[in-house]
Amino acid sequence: GVGIVISPLIALMQDQVGALRQSGVSAEFINSSLSREEAQLVEKRVVSGKSDILYVAPERLQTDSFQRFIRKFPVAVFAIDEAHCVSQWGHDFRPEYLKIAEVIDSYPKVPRVALTATADAVTRRDIVEKLKLERAAQFVSSFDRANIHYRVLLKNKDKQQLHDFIRNEHPGEPGIVYVRTRRRADQIASWLKEKGLPAFSYHAGLDPHTRTERQKQFLHDDGLIIVATIAFGMGIDKPDVRFVAHLDLPASMEAYYQETGRAGRDGQPADAWMVYSLADVVAMRKLLDQSEGDEAFKRIQQRKLEALLGYCEAVECRREALLGYFGETYPAPCRTCDNCAQSVEAWDGTIAAQKALSCVYRTGQRFGAAHLTDILIGNSTERILRLRHDRLKSFGAGKDLSPKVWRSVYRQLLAAGMLSVNVGKISGYGLTEKSWSVLRSERKVRFRKDPRLIRNKKVIKVSPKHKPDFLDDDARQLFEKLRHLRLDLSKKLGVPPFVIFHDKTLMEMAALRPTNRGEFLLSLIHISEPTRPSKSSRMPS
Ligand code: ZN
Repeated sequence: GVGIVISPLIALMQDQVGALRQSGVSAEFINSSLSREEAQLVEKRVVSGKSDILYVAPERLQTDSFQRFIRKFPVAVFAIDEAHCVSQWGHDFRPEYLKIAEVIDSYPKVPRVALTATADAVTRRDIVEKLKLERAAQFVSSFDRANIHYRVLLKNKDKQQLHDFIRNEHPGEPGIVYVRTRRRADQIASWLKEKGLPAFSYHAGLDPHTRTERQKQFLHDDGLIIVATIAFGMGIDKPDVRFVAHLDLPASMEAYYQETGRAGRDGQPADAWMVYSLADVVAMRKLLDQSEGDEAFKRIQQRKLEALLGYCEAVECRREALLGYFGETYPAPCRTCDNCAQSVEAWDGTIAAQKALSCVYRTGQRFGAAHLTDILIGNSTERILRLRHDRLKSFGAGKDLSPKVWRSVYRQLLAAGMLSVNVGKISGYGLTEKSWSVLRSERKVRFRKDPRLIRNKKVIKVSPKHKPDFLDDDARQLFEKLRHLRLDLSKKLGVPPFVIFHDKTLMEMAALRPTNRGEFLLSLIHISEPTRPSKSSRMPS
């Protein structure tokens, strides 16, 4: 029979069908990119038993004409790809996914399988329930992406930090930069371009043609940088993305995991690099408070945000925190995150937290970090004098710490939910239940010591060199020649270079130098052992 793969995106279908055909599997898709005649030809091939796999979007699956069509041949399996799209707790929620079960329920004897690379426990429960898989076996492989090096830095001058990171660590290599807004994507991309880096923006505000072109260019070229909103990514299966940088906080831990997971799919070392600041934390808290939805929805979102902020402020291994979020216990240290590479100093901040919180209380929970810090360090600004805040007990009570440290204290209090952000007319920090337990000395507080920011100088370097260490110059030259050959072939065949061979394969060829078919086959067998978890098994092997 024919396996029906339900897939959310045209680009994703095209990539996968292309890769399957390259590996000798007769696969097809039917979507709006085909003309009527082309679609009819595909249908003919499927009905006559010439195809094994058919890709289709959930919307089309539900149409009457498609229903009639699939009655004409035996269906072997329904595979629901990107199955996390059924869950409204995820960030890729697609309402059409909810109706999939209705359709495939009329095939009680046909097995169904749901696949996803990103789902926490809540989302997994949703997948099981919405796709009626209660009695199905679950296979959960490790979430660990061992070749990705995680790093979170304090935002200082974000553009410059990004530029230095790319120039110092990934010159000439492909990467993705995530930002929150379309405008920012355009701005950052053109700024990088001015600085001589090959960068493009990508977001939902661009016309579809430009989007497709840019996505294609990113896949086919070797060293492009895409500056994108979350609109970019699903279905991007480029194996040699060497870094994913976040200039703004992602929407959640799942989003972070999924976005950073686009780096290093070839198993070679890659960087997940992020900068964030107090302003980001405040923005996220506000966004959450203003979000619509019922209490249960908000509560879950709240927990998700807390997990994300906790990850940013983590003093211990980041990999442990990240995997812990997905319910996996990781034996830290991993040695390949910034916290493991360089231990983070923590300090007892209970007294500082009490001073910071009582300053919030005494000023009526109406001010932000800048004003509160001025009070604590005893800075007689015009505003302080006007509001008579110099008469408060808090005035000058925090002279022992620098303004920078106070900002760090407020950021970490917010991140830990020991402060909230008021929204509405009076914006400012507010106290929470947790704040009161700190003020009543029921709770000890530990803060991470922010590393000093040194510009244009790498504070920490966690990535090892991932450029191949060839035995000799000949091998290096051979590798370059093979790369050129691969590029020629890929242009001829109209597929991205990695569909032909991964860098890793070329490296092995350059090192082992097979001279006949037998040796060549052996060298391929040698490298085909899995190097990464099976969840990213969308790559052609
Ligand atoms: Zn670690």
